[in-house]
Amino acid sequence: MSKPPHTGDKPLLFVDIDGVISLFGFESDRRPAGRWVNVDGMLHFLSAAAGEHLPRLAESYDLVWCSGWEERANDHLPHALALPGPLPFLSFARAPGDTGAHWKLDAIDAHAGQRPLAWIDDAITDACEAWAARRRAPTLLVPTEPPTGLTAAHVATLEDWARRLTHS
Ligand SMILES: [Mg+2]
Repeated sequence: MSKPPHTGDKPLLFVDIDGVISLFGFESDRRPAGRWVNVDGMLHFLSAAAGEHLPRLAESYDLVWCSGWEERANDHLPHALALPGPLPFLSFARAPGDTGAHWKLDAIDAHAGQRPLAWIDDAITDACEAWAARRRAPTLLVPTEPPTGLTAAHVATLEDWARRLTHS
């Protein structure tokens, strides 16, 4: 008998926003598809492609906002990107830890425990790579470029990884 699907079966996907969904650093004559959105008085350029990719990724992953936007991600992004409902989000200690590790790692660890996880971010550092190598659960880091953010190639990589995970 096949197992009924429930959320615990999917790996987690931690989703950064700036440099992944909110793009920057592109040439003014090479602006990707998307639109400007006013977020608390600051203009952000939201990628149309990211808006299309996220619902698809939600079929393979439990999505979690992993951004300095924290809870504000839910105030703006589900509406602007036509995403279903609010998503869980991480909150971060304001000062980076003494270890010099990436400032998001403690919160990711606390949320993920021993679950398999992927993390897409434009600021993956050597400290993140070392942390991923130390994790005992499967861990995939997906770096992005801020002018393009989340692309179809990233989606293919993420879907492939999730598929291998559930079939291994
Ligand atoms: Mg970022």
